[in-house]
Amino acid sequence: MFADVAGGPGGECWPVVLQLERSERMSDDPLPAHVVNADHQPSMVVWEATRAFRFPGTPDAAPAELAARPGELTTNEAIAMIDQLEPFPGTVLGITGGDPLEREDLELIVSRARIRALPVVLALGATPRVTVHRLRKLRTASEQTEVAVRLDGPTAESHDAQRGFVGAYRRTLDIMQGARQVGFPVRIITAVSQRNVDELDALAEVVAMTGARQWNVSFLPPFGRGNAADVLSADEHEQVLVRLAHLWGRVPFTISVASSPSFARVMSQTGHPANGEVDTSTDGRGFMFISSTGDVRPSRLLPTVGNVRQDSPAVLYRHAPLFEALRDRDRLEGRCGRCEYRCECGGSRSWAYVTSGDLFAEDPTCPWEPVTAP
Ligand code: SF4
Repeated sequence: MFADVAGGPGGECWPVVLQLERSERMSDDPLPAHVVNADHQPSMVVWEATRAFRFPGTPDAAPAELAARPGELTTNEAIAMIDQLEPFPGTVLGITGGDPLEREDLELIVSRARIRALPVVLALGATPRVTVHRLRKLRTASEQTEVAVRLDGPTAESHDAQRGFVGAYRRTLDIMQGARQVGFPVRIITAVSQRNVDELDALAEVVAMTGARQWNVSFLPPFGRGNAADVLSADEHEQVLVRLAHLWGRVPFTISVASSPSFARVMSQTGHPANGEVDTSTDGRGFMFISSTGDVRPSRLLPTVGNVRQDSPAVLYRHAPLFEALRDRDRLEGRCGRCEYRCECGGSRSWAYVTSGDLFAEDPTCPWEPVTAP
C-alpha cells in the first residue's frame, strides 16, 4: 500500500497512483502485484469490527467492560460489506476495535475477505481474548492475514505506564510470539507522543528484535482524555519524521507513517528516491474507514458520508462528494494550498478538521513553509 505521485510544484496534480503492497504472505497469491488509481481504489479500508473490549486480567468468560454499540453490523451484514468491497482486489482490510476478537464470527469474516482477495491486517489488543487456540483458528481461516499489535514503549516500565496497566508489555510480547508461532506475519503499531518521543531508536531496536515485518508509526491525536499535554508540536512531528527517514532502509522491517502524508516530503528532502515505496495514502485518498455500525467515512475522524446497510462502500469511495473533494488538491488552503508538495502530500485532513473545523485548512502538524509566496 505504497504510493507514488505525479505532478509538479504549483501545477496541476495528476491522479495519485497507489502500489498495493505485496508481502511474503502474498507470495502465492494468484493476483499480480498491481498499482491502482487512488481516485478509484484505496490501499486500505479500516473496519472497526466492534467497540467491545475487556481489559487484561479480566476472566475470558466475563462480559466485556466496554460494550458493543447498539446496532453494530451483524454477521450477515459484515459479510455483505466484505462482498461490496469486491471492486477493490488487493486492498488491505484493517480490522480493528475495541477488540475484534470479541466477535465470535471473526473467522468467518476473515475467511470471506480471503475469498474477495482482500488481505487482512488484524489489530489485536493485549486482551484475555487472545489465545493460541483462537490465533490458530484465525490462521486456518485465512493465510492472507497479518497480525498487528500496539507497542508504545521499548521497556515494560515505559509501555505499561502508557497503556495504563502492569503486564501490558509482557502480554504484548507473548501475543507476538504466539502469532508468529502459528504462522502470522506481525507488524507493530506505535503512537508517538511526548511520553515516548525520546525512545524512538530504542523502540526500533525492539521492533527489529521481535522480527516484525512492518512498523506502523502514528502520532497521538489532539483529543481524548489526557491527550492534549502529550501531543507533539509541529517541529517535534518533523523531527520524528526525519528520524524515521534516517531509519528507512537501515532496519530489517518496513516503515509506514499513518496520518502524516508530509512524510513523503521529508523522505524527498532527505534524499530518498521517489520510487513509490512511501505510503502517501490518506483521508479519502487511498484510505477509507467503516465504523462498527457501518458508517463510511474518509477517516475515523471525518464526517460520515453513508452507511454500508444502504450504500455500496466502493461507490461512496469513488463518488461521494466529500471523498471527491478531499482528493481535489485545488481545495486546499493556507500553506497546504500553495505548497510545492501539495500533490504528493496535501496534509492530513483529519488533523486539519479536528483542530480547526475546516476540512481544507493547512495541516497543523507540518512546519514546512512553502517556497511559493502567499
Ligand atoms: S504544507 Fe501541507 S502540503 Fe506542504 S508539506 Fe506541509 S502538510 Fe504537506
